[in-house]
Amino acid sequence: MFNFHHPVEIKFGEGIISQINEVAEAKDYSRIIVVSSNSQMKNGTTEFINTQLGERVKATVSDIEPNPTLQNVGTIVDAMNQHNAHAVVAVGGGSAMDASKAAAAAYMQGIAMEDLLEHDDFTRALPVIAIPTTSGSASEVTAASIISDKEKELKVPLIGPALYPQTAVVDPELTLTCPPGVTAVSGIDILCHALDCLGSVKHNPVSDALAIRASKLAFENLLAAYTEPSNREARNNLSLASMLAGMAFSQTGTSGSHATSYYLTSHYGVPHGEACAFTMDAWFVINAEANPELQQHARDIGFDDAEALSEAFNALKREMGLAMTFEDLGISREDIPQIAEESMQPANMKNNIAQLSKDEIIGMLEKK
Ligand SMILES: [Zn+2]
Repeated sequence: MFNFHHPVEIKFGEGIISQINEVAEAKDYSRIIVVSSNSQMKNGTTEFINTQLGERVKATVSDIEPNPTLQNVGTIVDAMNQHNAHAVVAVGGGSAMDASKAAAAAYMQGIAMEDLLEHDDFTRALPVIAIPTTSGSASEVTAASIISDKEKELKVPLIGPALYPQTAVVDPELTLTCPPGVTAVSGIDILCHALDCLGSVKHNPVSDALAIRASKLAFENLLAAYTEPSNREARNNLSLASMLAGMAFSQTGTSGSHATSYYLTSHYGVPHGEACAFTMDAWFVINAEANPELQQHARDIGFDDAEALSEAFNALKREMGLAMTFEDLGISREDIPQIAEESMQPANMKNNIAQLSKDEIIGMLEKK
């Protein structure tokens, strides 16, 4: 028995961004707030979108921080209030989309910024049209938004049905300008989303199918997109992989690799994708021991077994210069017990098929 509900309209394809005005016209949005990452302001994508939308755009908000803050969300809500907005168009990576999704709900539900991170009932939001410019976060198809409170040093995942964008406009051409370093850390996150789904207790036949296809596409195309940024076929397939993995984890949540990553990011500043990838190889093998179905999934993805998949994952990381050891991360091995302890706290660790004790997690980390 399972349930699968995914309420996002998806428009996908090279050049589809030139149809953005038709999307707005069909919904009759005449007062739009555009939220853009600074990189898309600089490279002309936001200008192109604003030109297409013309008079509909009432304000453009930029300067969204890499880990979007309450202040960023507040600025977007202010613009929505000032212009009595109909919709928000979010252009950028996870940060611009996450900030816009949180703002869209805060605006409609009248949630004050000081209460936002404690709020857990997101039921209504202004429509969000999400336009991803990296392949990885998949915020365009998920009901999650991660917002930080800088003063309190908090980073909180907000989750609720109203946080799904209304429309995802996924144009792989927009990722052609994504630099190799960003392609690597966001692209490896696609695999961490897909493989975490397969290792989630909430997996179901639909999420498995999406995650297997996403994994196969990411394994086959990530290195090509990293080494040849203008490789259109690779970029196309990665955009698709990211979206499919997002649709999968929107249903199952993430599991072991993500739970182990949060402390590495919040305490040591390791980028999200690299932090998840640090233990993904180990978690997939551990989960395959607990549930042999994962051996078949590994074969469906194109490997002999879970161990071979895990080795290929590490080879990919090595080729892209991602951290393999604690020494690479610049983290002392004396911190391992604390990292194991912190890894057990996030709710998504309970999602993991294999339930490990603290000592077992220490054992896993000591092999790094
Ligand atoms: Zn992730």
